[in-house]
Amino acid sequence: EVRIHGVNKAFSEAAALSDIDLTVREGELLALLGPSGSGKTTLLRVIAGLEIPDSGRIFFGADDVTDRPVQQRGIGFVFQHYALFRHLSVFDNIAYGPRSRPRARRPSEADLRQRVHELLALVQLEGLDRRFPAQLSGGQRQRVALARALAIEPRVLLLDEPFGALDAQVRKDLRRWLRAIHRETGQTTIFVTHDQDEALELADRVAILNGGRLEQVASADDVYDAPASAFVMSFIGESS
Ligand code: ATP
Repeated sequence: EVRIHGVNKAFSEAAALSDIDLTVREGELLALLGPSGSGKTTLLRVIAGLEIPDSGRIFFGADDVTDRPVQQRGIGFVFQHYALFRHLSVFDNIAYGPRSRPRARRPSEADLRQRVHELLALVQLEGLDRRFPAQLSGGQRQRVALARALAIEPRVLLLDEPFGALDAQVRKDLRRWLRAIHRETGQTTIFVTHDQDEALELADRVAILNGGRLEQVASADDVYDAPASAFVMSFIGESS
C-alpha cells in the first residue's frame, strides 16, 4: 500500500499539488488522470522521491519514505520516453537492476538468466534477448522498459504515460496487455495518463486531478455514475 498524506508542493509560489490525501491499495492498479498541468507527473515524482514535498508524508506500508532517496524506495519506473541503455542488449537492460545490487543481495548469473527469461516471457518478447534497443519497435521498447522495472521486484510500479508516444492501435494493444500482466503479477501500480478512456479501461480506481487538487478517487463505474464535481462530469464526458 502507498499512502500519501497531506502533500503540498509548489514551484516558485505556484501550487502544483494542494493537500493531496490518497491511498493506493496493495495490488491495485490506480490511474492518475487529469488535464495537462494538473499535477499528475509531480505527484508521481513525489512518490518516487524525485521531488521533495513542501509538506506532508509518503508511506509505503508502515514505512515513512518521505526522507528516503529514490534508490532506497524500491520503485520501478517507466516513462513515456524511457531511455533504455542503448549500448546494452535487451537481456542486459533487464538484468541491470539486479546486477547493481550490493554483492550480498546480487543474484547468481544462473538465477538472473532464469529471471530475465521469465520476464521476457511475461512481456511476450521471448527470443529477443540479444537485440539492442535500436532493433526494437516503440511498443517493444516499452515492454522491455516494463520488464526492466519489474526485474527489481519493486514495491510500487510507477508508469508515466508509458504508451503516450505510440500510435493508437499499439496503445490499445498495450493497454489490454498491461491489464493482463497486472492480473498475473498483482503488482501495486500507479499509472499516469491524460487519456480518460485509457484510465477508465485499465484501472481498478481512477484518481482525478485538476489544478493540483484531487477531485475524485473512485472506480470507473462510480466516476461515470456519480461524478463528484462539474469538472469530473465535463472531463469524463469529453471524448478523446
Ligand atoms: P502533463 O500531462 O502536461 O505532463 P501534469 O498533469 O503531469 O501535466 P505536472 O507536470 O505535474 O502536470 O505540472 C503541474 C504544475 O507544476 C504545472 O503548472 C507545471 O508547470 C508545474 N511544474 C512542474 N514541474 C515544474 C518544475 N520543475 N518547475 C516549475 N514548475 C513546474
